[in-house]
Amino acid sequence: MGVGWSAAPLRVVLVPRLTFAVPTPIPDPSPLQGEGGNGVPMTTPALRAALLAWYDAGARTLPWRAPPGSGMRTDPYFVWLSEVMLQQTTVPHATPYFLSFTRRWPTVGDLAAAPDGDVMAAWAGLGYYARARNLLACARAVAAEHGGVFPDTEEGLRALPGVGAYTAAAVAAIAFDREANVVDGNVERVMSRLFAVEAPMPDSKPALKALAGSLVTADRPGDWAQALMDLGATVCRPKSPLCDRCPVSGFCAAFKRGDPETFPRRTKKADRPRRYGVAYLLTRGDEVALVRRPPKGLLGGMLGLPTSDWRGDPWADEEAVAAAPVSAAGGWHDAGEIDHVFTHFSLTLRVFRAEGMMDAEWTDRDALAALPSVFLKAAKAGLG
Ligand code: SF4
Repeated sequence: MGVGWSAAPLRVVLVPRLTFAVPTPIPDPSPLQGEGGNGVPMTTPALRAALLAWYDAGARTLPWRAPPGSGMRTDPYFVWLSEVMLQQTTVPHATPYFLSFTRRWPTVGDLAAAPDGDVMAAWAGLGYYARARNLLACARAVAAEHGGVFPDTEEGLRALPGVGAYTAAAVAAIAFDREANVVDGNVERVMSRLFAVEAPMPDSKPALKALAGSLVTADRPGDWAQALMDLGATVCRPKSPLCDRCPVSGFCAAFKRGDPETFPRRTKKADRPRRYGVAYLLTRGDEVALVRRPPKGLLGGMLGLPTSDWRGDPWADEEAVAAAPVSAAGGWHDAGEIDHVFTHFSLTLRVFRAEGMMDAEWTDRDALAALPSVFLKAAKAGLG
């Protein structure tokens, strides 16, 4: 898209910051919380001060974010749009889309007035078109029912089409400095480690949410939410957390135990069933043939490589070639195999490659990074 970070159309509104006093201590100890990793009782003020100071000194620069301590707030439209985009992809992937959307539709009213087809086309590559449809429905509700101004409470935001509990809390906290408890998977992980929560996921979710809530105060709730997001994304990572760089390691029970990576605990899953399929990598010079999957079902509406059915038995070479979407003059060649784990099953995909033509969306190899990971893996295997 050729859009750089420096071109971010950040629009901020100057709002006086509330100065609050008296951070509350953590409530009476529950079975889920204990002393901090430094041997002193964990207290909300000390933990909060350490994390907020770290955030003030090195917050990630994001085009939808107002710098911490600036006294400015980000436009709720920007917060909402970025949160919807980030529900299904990473910050580096979402950023050019965010910049492109906000250049083209600088306000929620502009987005609301956009033709469906334009928004769907601009969304291409972000996947899950249902989200794009919800995005439009929400923008139109804000424009038609709220005069183009986002509601400024969690409750009001939650009433908008397609806005779930997490997004409502994030917009309320970040855009309006509301005392909202913003909890996603990253925050659950951080809480499970800070408090060394032994109860396994997903049963522990309510307890993790309550623990996160015990750390929220009326002082800088937007910055607090974003500080936790940054901690989970850059330091308290799912694998190999960078505890030696963590601003709250002195408070962290899992760090003190020496096994932070083992949190959050999980119940052992029953073995997933395995399915088998074939992915077809058809090339035309530097381009690869992609097809759009049916709107309903797994990876619905997303672009991917053409595939066979996914079934319970492995595919023999002859069967795989017979099921190919087109015949190829030079023949289909075995180009490897990949494994991928979905929520309810594991998939082994054989990859067959050929040079040829078919009715498809032909895509540069450079653009394959936007594919769902199962197809990206298969394309990489096929291209060597
Ligand atoms: S990075 Fe390490 S020390 Fe910091 S919260 Fe996560 S597990 Fe604890």
